[in-house]
Amino acid sequence: MRSTMMDAPLQISRILDHGSTVHGTAEVVTWTGAEPRRMTYAEVGRAAARLAHALRDECGVTGDERVATFMWNNAEHLVAYFAVPSMGAVLHTLNIRLFPDQVAYIANHAEDRVVLVDSTLIPLLAKVIGDMTTVRHVVVAGGGDPAPLVAAAGDRISVHHWDALLDGRPDTYDWREVDERDAAALCYTSGTTGNPKGVAYSHRSIYLHSLQVCTPEGFGLGPTDRTLAIVPMFHAMSWGLPYAALFSGASLIMPDRFLQAAPIAEMIIAEHPTLAGAVPTIWNDLLAYLDSHEVDTSSLAEVIVGGSACPPALMHAFEERHGIRVIHAWGMTETSPLGSVARPPAGASGEDAWRYRYTQGRVPAGVEARIVGPLAEPLPADGTSVGELEVRGPWVTGRYVGDETPDEEKFRDGWLRTGDVGTLSPDGYITLTDRAKDVIKSGGEWISSVELENALMAHPDVVEACVVGVPDERWGERPLATVVLREGAGVGAQELRDFLAASVARWQLPERWAVIDAVPKTSVGKFDKKVVRSRYAEGGLE
Ligand code: ADP
Repeated sequence: MRSTMMDAPLQISRILDHGSTVHGTAEVVTWTGAEPRRMTYAEVGRAAARLAHALRDECGVTGDERVATFMWNNAEHLVAYFAVPSMGAVLHTLNIRLFPDQVAYIANHAEDRVVLVDSTLIPLLAKVIGDMTTVRHVVVAGGGDPAPLVAAAGDRISVHHWDALLDGRPDTYDWREVDERDAAALCYTSGTTGNPKGVAYSHRSIYLHSLQVCTPEGFGLGPTDRTLAIVPMFHAMSWGLPYAALFSGASLIMPDRFLQAAPIAEMIIAEHPTLAGAVPTIWNDLLAYLDSHEVDTSSLAEVIVGGSACPPALMHAFEERHGIRVIHAWGMTETSPLGSVARPPAGASGEDAWRYRYTQGRVPAGVEARIVGPLAEPLPADGTSVGELEVRGPWVTGRYVGDETPDEEKFRDGWLRTGDVGTLSPDGYITLTDRAKDVIKSGGEWISSVELENALMAHPDVVEACVVGVPDERWGERPLATVVLREGAGVGAQELRDFLAASVARWQLPERWAVIDAVPKTSVGKFDKKVVRSRYAEGGLE
């Protein structure tokens, strides 16, 4: 029996129409370092229409052409997030922090036709635009001088100014009815090994993912929220916050290029966010700032931390010293990215609740998870069997862009192999011990680098700790601990080893240590273990 329900495609333009009318007075605030810029969602709707007209009439975007963004988190980027998919084209968020040859590779692989760029990023784009072979138009947002782009790209590319291009165009657009399974947006993984791989989100997957972001079990976005979206819009779609914001009527506070602790603290004071999202390194910096400055953080009830494991010490520090609840979440570019959120089950309190909050979280209804062993055999979800985490669901990618069939290394029987190792409890909580490639294999036993890092970061003198496996003649691999110490702290390797010995088995204790100024980070702010391994592998006991 067929249902009697109407068949309205789940498409981005519906989220835009809803957000810009029903929640037309909600706003996106863009930080500028001076007076912030404010735009209501009603204005976002009108600007999206004008951008769509401009892209169609001046840049020849009439079908599923790829329109790339090379932008910070700001109002123009938000407008592009909605205009491009709503007109039936495909938004491609380029990661501005990748190496130039990777950016060019990605743009060519995606066949980007147009690039929207912030004027502050012109010098960076100028380095690669000459190698972007399919790009024909660049649109510069903000009043910068595009001369370096023109010089680098020559006649092949027309350069436009955002304001001039949009000026005078109609502020409504007859959005195309799309097949909800068509691509709406493209994002490439940052390619720590090999070339970056593309994930194409559909209108349907983004719509369903937005619903999940708004549930209390997800990020709980609603119309009374003001969301500080620090996680870049070029990294896993800013965790879906921009789409969920217009979906739910939550206002957005966008940091643009001001990502240091001091301006973020100013944003908190001036714009009263209720919720924020970023990777642990950002929160670590902010914590140091909050500990040493008077900042009114009373509006900020919750921050979402994901992208890499959140040290329990960081959660406790925020909650106990600043009254901010840290919610741990897990996901990947391949999972849109929301895969799990660590909210304790009903009835859990005190230490019991904390134990749930340390995990990577509970999968929502849209994500199925399983743990598999080395022979691809499914292991029981008993909270103790350790294996690789595999997931599937309507907002999980089934293959990479350009692949006819799923890459066997990353997909198995319709499941995505996450490359993450851990356990799954009967009630759906994931606990990750490591990425498969970061697990330290010592004499046939596995040592979790994350467990050592978390334990080290609980030491009051340790700001950051990054542990990697380095070759060892006798054991195959042994852990090397690199630590960043609090200013003025004089703690030595032996004392840190003794401190670790209280919570970690003796055979797991690192013999090799290096005190460093800063942990090298990837393009999205995670510990870059590849670089740490090659740079500090010779570290010795001090
Ligand atoms: P990249 O591979 O460039 O880091 P992603 O953001 O897609 O790009 O990375 C996804 C990976 O990040 C996951 O597979 C996992 O290893 C790690 N990750 C994300 N969230 C967490 C978390 N809460 N705890 C531990 N690891 C996490």
